[in-house]
Amino acid sequence: MASSGQKVVLITGCSSGIGLRIAVLLAKDEKKRYHVIATMRDLKKKDKLVEAAGDAYGKTLMLLPLDVCSDESVKQCINNVKDRHIDILINNAGVGLLGPVESISMEDMKRVFETNFFGVVRMIKEVMPDMKKRRAGHIVVMSSVMGLQGVVFNDVYTASKFAMEGFCESMAVQLLKFHVHLSMIEPGPVHTEFETKMMEDVAKMEYPGADADTVRYFKDVYLPSSKDIFEAMGQTPEDIAKCTKKVIE
Ligand code: NDP
Repeated sequence: MASSGQKVVLITGCSSGIGLRIAVLLAKDEKKRYHVIATMRDLKKKDKLVEAAGDAYGKTLMLLPLDVCSDESVKQCINNVKDRHIDILINNAGVGLLGPVESISMEDMKRVFETNFFGVVRMIKEVMPDMKKRRAGHIVVMSSVMGLQGVVFNDVYTASKFAMEGFCESMAVQLLKFHVHLSMIEPGPVHTEFETKMMEDVAKMEYPGADADTVRYFKDVYLPSSKDIFEAMGQTPEDIAKCTKKVIE
């Protein structure tokens, strides 16, 4: 349980990458300012987080299951937080999707919007009433540079982040009247499992519906140059965690 003066921080998508690093950094805060509720959709994936948290696990860091695509899971998770009191919500969970749009199923496109857009909407809807009542709170959303700029072959991912940016810009104005802050973080490439998972999906892709020129452009031009960009510009998840900590301080 949070001790007095500690801020309760709930983070989504802490099984890997940026979410895991934010959870660990805040839980290990030297002044113990945060009580971290690290959530993930499959608690069987908790080992990496628990190991990285070390002594903080069970003290300043606790775990709860949460699938941002499920109304029921979101409600249940927030109901499990004492008095439903969350000072800082960090919407980090997200999925990528890469490839020629003709080759991507509608099901996969909807999954991206369910997670990256509706996942955030669900979370904000659930925590907002308490924050407004207390006239305090901070909501942080992990967007992307692709929430600001369209990038070829990332069409649906980009669209999901643009949608979230629009939603949040509009919400921020309403929330400010209640002294609730909303911040967006827009990282460029970050070395996490995100990139690995997308490349695994791409390796299995058979390109139904896409013409030969598009497939060639994707495979021979886009993929190698995007790999170079990642190598040259990629940040670490720790970099983004530090930036997130600055934003909430
Ligand atoms: P990871 O793939 O390492 O982490 C994504 C996290 O989201 C995982 O914990 C994953 O859980 C979780 N997640 C996915 N779907 C759901 C769901 N339905 N409910 C709950 N959790 C879910 O990637 P990153 O750490 O890189 O990504 C974190 C955020 O940063 C994302 O929003 C991404 O869009 C954004 N971002 C990433 C960039 C990058 O280059 N890596 C660049 C810019 C922004 P599980 O293990 O169960 O799949």
